Amino acid sequence: VVQALGIHKSFGPVHVLRGVSLTVHAGEVLCVMGPSGSGKSTFLRCVNQLERIDDGELWVRDELVGHRVRQGRLYELNEREIARQRRGIGMVFQRFNLFPHMTALGNVIEGPLRALRHNRTDATAAARRLLDRVGLSDKYDAYPAQLSGGQQQRVAIARALAMQPYLMLFDEPTSALDPELVGEVLDVMKTLAADGMTMVVVTHETGFAREVGDTLVFMDDGVVVESGPPADVLGAPQHPRTREFLSRVL
Ligand code: ATP
Ligand code: MG
Repeated sequence: VVQALGIHKSFGPVHVLRGVSLTVHAGEVLCVMGPSGSGKSTFLRCVNQLERIDDGELWVRDELVGHRVRQGRLYELNEREIARQRRGIGMVFQRFNLFPHMTALGNVIEGPLRALRHNRTDATAAARRLLDRVGLSDKYDAYPAQLSGGQQQRVAIARALAMQPYLMLFDEPTSALDPELVGEVLDVMKTLAADGMTMVVVTHETGFAREVGDTLVFMDDGVVVESGPPADVLGAPQHPRTREFLSRVL
């Protein structure tokens, strides 16, 4: 579903991604770890076209991100086509980013109403099912400020799922949460993975990576320094940077 081949990205003089290559197959969960500033969020933002790559090839669902290949030539996509490419990708951030003036239900139906042009009755019925799925059947009408961080993050997941994505990106979805709220969000993500969703999860939750991840990628300084089955990378890291990092988080 995702194939990155030598991705480069700079912000001005800062060379953030220095040739990131990785693959995520359909139905797989790829976990990404690495020190602060190593480029994890930037990589996700490139996949979701919140940033443009400077060099390399990024394929998402057999399409070149931001481009179209026709008769061997490369064309840039216009905004509308970029919006179409982005629509299939759900993203959940560290901070919950809910619309504060809308209820949980309102947050979840917003995308389907506007971007997918679903009618209100169908969108509402679907949103209720999604909120039920993330364990919030009693919170349809609650506003974000009335919800705990864990509940807000579960609404954010339901909101992303309402767009019927084929790929979900999570950027440290539990790192802003109080420790006692982390489990409920990870449980929802675990269920999603078990249902076959393709996911890229930036997280330092090693338990989650071990249990749910198919592959664990360790990034440092804009490159993938190590990747493999999570139990191997966590249990017997080969690269000194991975070892050093894990000795700090474990
Ligand atoms: P963290 O664990 O702290 O979230 P990260 O691995 O997600 O770190 P990124 O957020 O991808 O790291 O940032 C990588 C580098 O790129 C950092 O040095 C950051 O300051 C820089 N950077 C990211 N976004 C921008 C931007 N829009 N403009 C300038 N520099 C940026
Ligand atoms: Mg980040």
